[in-house]
Amino acid sequence: MQTMLEIKLSKNALKVLEARYLKRDAERRIIETPEELFHLVAGCIAQGEAMWVSPQQIDHWRREYLELMTSLDFLPNSPTLMNAGKPLGQLSACFVLPVEDSMEGIFEAVKQMALVQRTGGGTGFSFSRLRPKGDLVASTSGEASGPVSFMKIFDCATENIKQGGKRRGANMGVLRVDHPDIMEFITAKLDGVTLQNFNISVGATDTFMKALEQDSDYELIHPRTGKCVGRLRANAVFDTIVHAAWRTGDPGLLFLDTINRSNPTPRVGEIEATNPCGEIPLLPYESCNLGSINLSRMIHERQGHPSVDWQKLRATVRKAIRFLDDVIEAGRYPIPEIERMTKSNRKVGLGLMGFAELLIRLGVSYASPEAVTVAENIMRFIDEESLAISQELAAERGVFPNWKGSVYEDRGIQLRNATRTAIAPTGTISIIAGTSAGIEPLFALAYKRSHVLDGQTLYELNPLLLEYLARYGLDTNKIIPEILERGGLKDVDGIPGEIKRLFVTSLEIPFEQHLRIQAAFQRHVDNSVSKTINLPHDTAPSLVAEAYRQAWEMGLKGITIYRYGSKQTQVLELGVGE
Ligand code: UDP
Repeated sequence: MQTMLEIKLSKNALKVLEARYLKRDAERRIIETPEELFHLVAGCIAQGEAMWVSPQQIDHWRREYLELMTSLDFLPNSPTLMNAGKPLGQLSACFVLPVEDSMEGIFEAVKQMALVQRTGGGTGFSFSRLRPKGDLVASTSGEASGPVSFMKIFDCATENIKQGGKRRGANMGVLRVDHPDIMEFITAKLDGVTLQNFNISVGATDTFMKALEQDSDYELIHPRTGKCVGRLRANAVFDTIVHAAWRTGDPGLLFLDTINRSNPTPRVGEIEATNPCGEIPLLPYESCNLGSINLSRMIHERQGHPSVDWQKLRATVRKAIRFLDDVIEAGRYPIPEIERMTKSNRKVGLGLMGFAELLIRLGVSYASPEAVTVAENIMRFIDEESLAISQELAAERGVFPNWKGSVYEDRGIQLRNATRTAIAPTGTISIIAGTSAGIEPLFALAYKRSHVLDGQTLYELNPLLLEYLARYGLDTNKIIPEILERGGLKDVDGIPGEIKRLFVTSLEIPFEQHLRIQAAFQRHVDNSVSKTINLPHDTAPSLVAEAYRQAWEMGLKGITIYRYGSKQTQVLELGVGE
């Protein structure tokens, strides 16, 4: 029996749910309410318990999961919300597929990509195994066209798969820095037309980064023979990377050796790629489902002082990890290889959204050293609790099948999940939850959000700011038009310093602070952290170079920058008067 639920959804949240998530009939009329959607998801995921518990307990978990989601304390990634209890039944956002160096291998990967993307999953690939451009093709005595040319086929296929009208396909393409075609790869997106369905990242190695430090050459390796076929000056390659990223945002860097140092199952394979937004390094054929805790709901007031509600956070982490482990059982998989790999490692990615809102409510500026401390404390706690509950689940249900031979066997820790934590962008689910995205600072206080939903534009004035303006008794009728016009508070008269300090926005924050926050989270996240280092339009290329170098020194697994206005279409735009 369904009960009436009290879900506090904003207008934008409803728009998103209607556009993408709620079921429609043959005439495209919506035939599902948000309440029914959450009931369906909770029921489907609780069925993941069926192997271990009684029907009464399944019902207990169904009610727990329903409460977890409808309170907006936690939301799973979009595919879980869209597909649970529905015919596709595919629940994960993140996939990595192998690309072998043969026609069969390449087109098999294109097909598998299509099967994943039509279910709403994002796909990552390493193209490093493909022989370089101009290499011999034995069967035809012709010349190979190289990784970049084949990537265009993947890109074109993605362009034509509309994911059932729900979500556009997203790809990550990785090429190792020592692949002979690396220069073509780095500059592939400079024309603003090619590979638009790809984020591209250079797979940087320790050897390359050290050559960069010493201003020396490094070797290019032929992927088939393993032999050195040329040398490049690390600084020249790095300069090309930096200028391309400065101009278009691509490529980012993935630090492959750093990633593999924390690969939990090195004996199963080496990690060569991540999902599209970089938060989940995966082995070929692995998938991972994500979920995010809404930090803006993990606060309580004691004698008028807001602080983190650690008890509630603990309870939420425990339920969320169980939920994500159940998703692995409850989901359907696009191809058998993915099901096998995913169920062998049982990776999940629990993270958070609303970090910027949490800071504001605690009275901490994102641009301050205290923000780094809060980041560190929150994530350490989530990490420790996730580890504890994954151990308990292992005691109830068994360790993940690849546990033997994993780093956890070496450490004597029995775990249900090879990884447990990740920071996702939460691009859509943070709109549903009505909070700030992932660990990002507020992008702007007033902005239009275009391209998120095909053909729709959302105008937003941050509701939290409205709340604070009212709290200070300010005349919002006078101030709001000014904020809308300027897209920020800096030059608006009559705003108290405290509000200006708390409502600092992304482009006002120095890149070093963005990196410090990313690093604080990364220290306690076993997968990776999705973060964009947003830079003002007039940023010099040398600053991008500095950010990329520091990211490596700080032990990050990857870095993505975006200079405002450097793409013709961008997701977030400042102001609405422009
Ligand atoms: N993703 C995708 N297509 C999209 C957005 C996201 O395939 O249009 C995948 C991608 O792997 C990304 C992951 O979903 O890294 C998580 O993205 P996000 O947190 O923004 O998704 P949400 O759950 O909020 O929709």
